[in-house]
Amino acid sequence: MNYYSLNRQSPNVNFKEATIKGQAPDKGLYFPEEIPVLPKSFFRDIEQMSKEEMAYKVIAPFVGNVMPETVLQQIVNETINFPIPIVPVSDNIFALEMFHGKTLAFKDVGARFMSRCLGYFVKDNNKKVTVLVATSGDTGGAVADGFYKVEGVQVVILYPSGKVSSVQEKQLTTLGKNIFALEVNGTFDDCQQMVKQAFNDEMLMSQIFLTSANSINVARWLPQQFFYFLAYKQWQNKSLPPVISVPSGNFGNICAGILAHKSGLPIQHFIAACNANDVIPKFMETKVYNPQQAVATISNAMDVGNPSNFIRILEMFDGNADMLSNIFSSVCVTDEETKQVIKEVDATYGYLMDPHGAVGYIALKNYLKIHPEFSGIFAETAHPIKFYDVVEEIIHRKIPLPDGIQSLMQKEKKSVVIESDYDFLKNYLLSMAF
Ligand SMILES: *Cc1c(COP(=O)(O)O)cnc(C)c1O
Repeated sequence: MNYYSLNRQSPNVNFKEATIKGQAPDKGLYFPEEIPVLPKSFFRDIEQMSKEEMAYKVIAPFVGNVMPETVLQQIVNETINFPIPIVPVSDNIFALEMFHGKTLAFKDVGARFMSRCLGYFVKDNNKKVTVLVATSGDTGGAVADGFYKVEGVQVVILYPSGKVSSVQEKQLTTLGKNIFALEVNGTFDDCQQMVKQAFNDEMLMSQIFLTSANSINVARWLPQQFFYFLAYKQWQNKSLPPVISVPSGNFGNICAGILAHKSGLPIQHFIAACNANDVIPKFMETKVYNPQQAVATISNAMDVGNPSNFIRILEMFDGNADMLSNIFSSVCVTDEETKQVIKEVDATYGYLMDPHGAVGYIALKNYLKIHPEFSGIFAETAHPIKFYDVVEEIIHRKIPLPDGIQSLMQKEKKSVVIESDYDFLKNYLLSMAF
């Protein structure tokens, strides 16, 4: 499988090169030359297959011949070595719990897959690789954990100061070793902007071996398809596929779901549930893409004002937003609604949602009101404990901290506080590379 740049000014590359580069030289996102169509037998046998076997079949065509089968199998097994269940919440609504990985958010899947692929691809390299990543909260922890102690790789994480939860912050600032955290006085978009600038800086790029671990990287994006196949594998009523609602920020997760659908996975409809950051809901209404400054909300991992992966979704529909709207819609949910529904669902059904999942739940519930013939799944993208600061205030009780989180919270934060100043970042990267 080869990948082309969505800006169409760079040569096509294989999976290995796309993973190492992150972004094409013309600044475009990489996109697979063709979307594999899975055979009917795959869907017929999906319940009998092990989840590892299923996931391997999904990802293998995208990886192609750049690594031996056994290596890819091992990577896939390690990527999904935790449960990803669908849990009934009400009569027609199920939660797809994506958060049972190490850092308690869905990003573990993409980060684990990518870190292992990259580790394999650079193992014979003599130049140290620097992974540069901006995080709105959960990417940082997942990437830090994925790359922790990986030989020949160091990780620099930029995060917006004061805009991530305390668990998120500890996850990305306490590991040490090859993991470095830069705490930026600014927003996630400022962090992302600096990362983009670094990749556009030819002088910098010629001196150090820099790659990204943001969701634009194909090795993070593509394995997220596993969630959707696993949801369908567990879905009881195969003759009436589910509506899936995904709380969205950078649109990587939902983009993987739509890709899975293009490969043949039966899904009734996709809902991208957003918080106050409403660029895509507005786009679907007006067909005008108007990026904004990110607004801070209680679902902070979705505070994105210029979602990078949306362009990939459009690509799957030849840029035709009308065609896209047959299978996809996008709505906004306020913080007030989110708080209200966390309380309500906890009290009524005894299911405690995190603020991101709650945004997905509301969007799904509203959709099903208009389409009562369907039932659906919302992606519960993080464990509520990860946002205990917000959630406890809503439900007026303490959530018991699991042991792992308790000891994490006692660790000492190590970060370098910086302004959103590209020159500082550049010098920092240069100084640590040698
Ligand atoms: C990153 C994240 C999101 C948004 O996912 P995208 O792929 O960026 O749309 C939603 N919920 C949680 C908990 C996250 O960490």
